[in-house]
Amino acid sequence: MNQSKGNLFILSAPSGAGKSSLYKALIADDAQVKISVSHTTREPRAGEENGREYYFVEVDDFLDMIADDAFFEHAQVFDNYYGTSKKAIFDMLDQGLDVILEIDWQGAKQVRQQYPHAISIFILPPSTEALEHRLRDRGTDSEDVINRRMAKAVSEMSHYNEYDYVIVNDDFQTALVEMSAIFKAMRTQKRIIEQKHSKLINDLLSL
Ligand code: GDP
Ligand code: ADP
Ligand code: 5GP
Repeated sequence: MNQSKGNLFILSAPSGAGKSSLYKALIADDAQVKISVSHTTREPRAGEENGREYYFVEVDDFLDMIADDAFFEHAQVFDNYYGTSKKAIFDMLDQGLDVILEIDWQGAKQVRQQYPHAISIFILPPSTEALEHRLRDRGTDSEDVINRRMAKAVSEMSHYNEYDYVIVNDDFQTALVEMSAIFKAMRTQKRIIEQKHSKLINDLLSL
């Protein structure tokens, strides 16, 4: 696979840990970071817009996209399908933008296999109680959905050790600073600088 100019980030967490709030705050503050919009077969929540949070599609359309090899990765989470289309990411990476994939641990595994340079971050809540409170306070899910998401939280969190970085989202601002620091530091990786500043490096070394 070609090496792109931007970095590909994987962001995972149990539902309610705060990953959407964190990436939205990061993007608002850093024009070089973009989110990949996934496809999903789940129903839109109140306030969600097709093409903004997700592309909301029917199961048949999703299965057609799998057959057409349109997905970089896809997985079944909470009885729904979720997937990242290839189109959603590579144009942006080629422009030198950093791209966030907000995906579950199964998708993360597929991405690492295909794209070993991907940098993965896991968000943990400060406690089980806080996780449940946040899911309830968000006010977007039914009691049944909340219970199923809480039941899945432990199995999702058991994969934290497959990730490069772990952020405990207790105080929001602290977590945001930690996340922003990872994005900025990754832009100084040697392979990125060699691409971005190849002329400078050539000039400096030919003195
Ligand atoms: P391929 O289909 O045999 O080339 O399998 P790969 O796993 O190498 O790539 C899968 C898809 O992702 C292909 O359609 C590639 O064109 C695309 N792809 C992989 N890396 C890059 C990249 O760095 N930039 C762009 N634009 N596309 C990429
Ligand atoms: P996820 O995308 O991981 O499912 P959200 O970003 O939707 O999680 O966050 C779940 C809820 O928790 C939201 O109502 C959000 O405002 C709240 N939240 C996120 N981070 C914090 C934090 N550090 N402290 C308190 N509440 C938070
Ligand atoms: P939600 O329905 O709360 O938006 O997301 C539920 C779960 O699906 C989360 O764990 C989220 O990370 C995961 N998810 C969202 N989009 C994708 C995707 O494109 N691929 C995969 N593998 N998981 C995703």
